[in-house]
Amino acid sequence: MKSYDAVVAGSGAGGAAVAGRLAAGGMKVLLLERGGPARASRSAVSAVRRHYARGGLGAAFGDGLLPVPTGFGVGGTTAINSGTCLRTPADLVAGWERDVPGFSAAEFSSRLDEAWTALKVKQAPTETLSGSSRLVLAGFRRLGVLAEPLHRAEDGCTGEARCCFVCPSGAKMTSDKAFLDPLPSGTRPELWTRAELVGAASGRATVRRGREVETVAAGVTVLSCGALETPNLVRALRLGPEWRRAGDGLTLHPAAKLFGLFPQAVLPARGVPQGVGAVHPADHRIRLEGVATPPELTALTLPLEGARLKAWMAARARLATFGLMVKDEARGSVRAPFGRAWPLVRYAPTPGDLERLARGMRLAADALFAAGAERVLLPLNRRRNEARDAIESSALLSGGVTARELQGMAFHPLGTCGLGRVVGADLRLCPGVYVCDGSVVPESLGVNPQITIYAFALSLAARLLGGKG
Ligand SMILES: Cc1cc2nc3c(=O)[nH]c(=O)nc-3n(C[C@H](O)[C@H](O)[C@H](O)COP(=O)(O)OP(=O)(O)OC[C@H]3O[C@@H](n4cnc5c(N)ncnc54)[C@H](O)[C@@H]3O)c2cc1C
Repeated sequence: MKSYDAVVAGSGAGGAAVAGRLAAGGMKVLLLERGGPARASRSAVSAVRRHYARGGLGAAFGDGLLPVPTGFGVGGTTAINSGTCLRTPADLVAGWERDVPGFSAAEFSSRLDEAWTALKVKQAPTETLSGSSRLVLAGFRRLGVLAEPLHRAEDGCTGEARCCFVCPSGAKMTSDKAFLDPLPSGTRPELWTRAELVGAASGRATVRRGREVETVAAGVTVLSCGALETPNLVRALRLGPEWRRAGDGLTLHPAAKLFGLFPQAVLPARGVPQGVGAVHPADHRIRLEGVATPPELTALTLPLEGARLKAWMAARARLATFGLMVKDEARGSVRAPFGRAWPLVRYAPTPGDLERLARGMRLAADALFAAGAERVLLPLNRRRNEARDAIESSALLSGGVTARELQGMAFHPLGTCGLGRVVGADLRLCPGVYVCDGSVVPESLGVNPQITIYAFALSLAARLLGGKG
């Protein structure tokens, strides 16, 4: 039987960071990744097929349908994310210290700094911003709303606008680039791709590769399969005293984006897509951030059909887009009634979440109009979803929005093995088995989560190395 000091399942933000740090600390580490190596491709459609779990068809079901994309392959979701980095809000970290015995806010804060450095985080230079982001930045400033270029994990980004489809230049700092590539060869974790963890118990881990199933000796096993996958493993394997609670407490940051039609060309396919961010001045739970849709996926994301869809598509070079997400009150769940390959995600935004989504849309529409948009398309599947000015968009949103009509998405599944519920401060499920990915984040953050997940991972690695890491 092969033997490792540590087996880590999943090479995303949580897994690659733990595996890399344990290997750097002298441990013999096996890193398992269910998908294959990340490869950039010219077509966003083939990138979605290859690097999005379930071909990009993952979704949450509740009062409506909310697509929830996650990554599949080396780098996990970091291979297809936008690279934005925001620190965990200090009040949340303070609350975790208060509520979870053994959790140290000061230690977590130092791990956030460590992740920030490893990811080479820097503020997006104005010259690399997409046309869309530059326009909306000007719009926010005209409204007197504080908006700024975002901090991003990148090293040499030239704004190729493909962050979410595997960065073609390799400039985006993904989890493997930040935590595996810098290690001298010979000290890196052994990486098995297309290899799935299917069993974990004290002292051993079971891996399936194709038709072969192999058990290896593992000093520790870390589940870092993501917030939609890890809880179903925990439940299936009955890991830890709280395994029955795994899969509950799901938060998603429901999100949506608006299109603005401008008189001039916006060139949406160039520049950093998620380059600019703002917080709603009246409600910090609403965040607004740039987004971009590659030309080949635009038709899919417009809440239109027939002649109107044709007209907006014909004008696609003049479209700007801007998005928003909310720190959600809703709590969903994930289970595996159809097998672990197709998790069933249940989630319905609360009336408060929907009210905040509507308020965020109103501000995003105002910013697009202030930037010179002639028309704005709201992310709502209703006949009247197009406004010619801010008064009209405000009127269209005055009755609120429903989950059924929302053309939204959610990019941040978190919380399904929450700290203080399924695991304690040490992230241990049972002797020798730990969990470390978005599932441990105990509540909706209200900010993009990767830095928070990395900080949990660095903290766990240091603990497993006995404070040496
Ligand atoms: C389009 C998009 C854009 C985003 N943009 C940002 C952003 O700009 N900033 C930000 O902070 N966050 C962003 N996020 C979210 C962020 O990237 C994720 O929250 C984060 O990567 C999650 O890390 P994780 O470790 O929980 O899981 P993941 O990164 O999803 O990694 C889990 C890995 O485990 C693998 N796996 C699953 N099951 C098994 C198994 N049984 N055995 C072995 N391997 C397995 C999966 O294939 C996957 O590679 C974005 C997300 C999306 C979808």
